[in-house]
Amino acid sequence: MAGQRILVIGGGAAGFFGAIACATANPRVRVTILEAGATVLSKVRISGGGRCNVTHHCFDPALLVRHYPRGGKALRGAFSRFQPQDMIAWFEARGVKLKTEADGRVFPVSDDSETIIDCLVQEATALGIRIRTRAAVKEMVKVGNEFQVTVAQQSQPLVGDRVLLATGSSSQGYRLAAQLGHTIIPPVPSLFTFQIDDSLLQERSGLSVQPVQATLKLPQQPPLTQTGAILVTHWGFSGPVVLKLSAWGARALAAQNYRGTLVVNWLPHRSLPQIQGELAACRTHTPKRAIANHCPLPLPRRLWSYWTTTVGIPAEQTWAHLSKKQLLALAEALHRGTFTIAGKGAFKEEFVTCGGVALKEVDFKTMASRCCEGLFLAGEVLDIDGVTGGFNLQSAWTTGWIAGQGLAEGCTGASTATLS
Ligand SMILES: Cc1cc2nc3c(=O)[nH]c(=O)nc-3n(C[C@H](O)[C@H](O)[C@H](O)COP(=O)(O)OP(=O)(O)OC[C@H]3O[C@@H](n4cnc5c(N)ncnc54)[C@H](O)[C@@H]3O)c2cc1C
Repeated sequence: MAGQRILVIGGGAAGFFGAIACATANPRVRVTILEAGATVLSKVRISGGGRCNVTHHCFDPALLVRHYPRGGKALRGAFSRFQPQDMIAWFEARGVKLKTEADGRVFPVSDDSETIIDCLVQEATALGIRIRTRAAVKEMVKVGNEFQVTVAQQSQPLVGDRVLLATGSSSQGYRLAAQLGHTIIPPVPSLFTFQIDDSLLQERSGLSVQPVQATLKLPQQPPLTQTGAILVTHWGFSGPVVLKLSAWGARALAAQNYRGTLVVNWLPHRSLPQIQGELAACRTHTPKRAIANHCPLPLPRRLWSYWTTTVGIPAEQTWAHLSKKQLLALAEALHRGTFTIAGKGAFKEEFVTCGGVALKEVDFKTMASRCCEGLFLAGEVLDIDGVTGGFNLQSAWTTGWIAGQGLAEGCTGASTATLS
């Protein structure tokens, strides 16, 4: 089957890397990427705020899969074949220097996603991969052993022997998969911020507190708890802890129309009696100081003033006059401050989709479809999503790489791909 025609639908991280892996595994196949947009790798370009958080410094597949609210189990074996260490080695073998930040996120040393894009594009060019942009696939049918792929504004369909569907979260991609027999788990957003209608809180936009322990409570659902940094925005809350809760609670939050309760423990290393004790001590030690201006706990001033105001302590009230009721209310607020989630934040800093092609319909050893022979799937089109930190790109690289091997397998002259 030398010269086998491989069509890759979608020029994002998964499709692009899948195409590279396939052409590397078998240089005799003819690989064409069909990308709907004007440029390839557009999400890679904007990822990580333009710095591209390529992957995460977590090299144990068993630990890595814990960062995927959906798809972790299926990715366990996949990560034992191609994981963050392999991706880092792949880039470094091509001269791209990467660095790991304190929280484990991996970025190019250049802090510029173009470095990653340039490397991928150069590799694809060297491998002779054809890239067609503004080539949105409208229809795909299987006729005999061939796929006939109809591209917008082109009368003749393209013909492929094998197809990699890597269309991310596009509805058109889900439709193509469904037409070839796949079940689509309804897509809903993941990794979003929470809208909190509280003007006093919103006035503190930019305030960041770390670490907090935040618990998401939704009707008829077990509470979800995460620890990490929280960020106050001019519409509510953001930050890693909120994004993680939005991911683990993505489906339940969608079912509640993004209404729920967020309980924040602002001092997770202190018990409620400890907080009460430290507040009570101020009555003795600093009786003449105004409560609003003197915070005995390790909290930002703006957060302290938020809570003293919210529990109804007048600005000029001194510690000597703190009533027992006020003390208990303040301690309670710091231990489990409660906020009503009024909706999903509009700002899509790192937005992914929960849902997609049902994983049981894909053989993760090759990423081959179990519903349609010759079809392979990779990336976000699948019902896989990770939390923030480089996990989403890693699942795209990993599934793309495995799909590349699968696409090349069985073709005359195929060789096992090497990592460098
Ligand atoms: C703002 C933002 C920042 C992010 N930052 C990070 C980060 O720092 N780290 C991280 O790990 N993840 C990040 N993510 C998530 C990550 O970018 C995605 O999970 C990842 O890009 C998914 O790769 P993919 O190839 O599966 O899909 P995509 O990157 O979405 O690529 C799919 C491609 O298919 C094309 N396409 C769709 N339909 C068709 C069609 N019918 N015909 C032809 N082409 C089609 C699309 O135009 C697109 O180019 C971020 C996401 C966003 C939105």
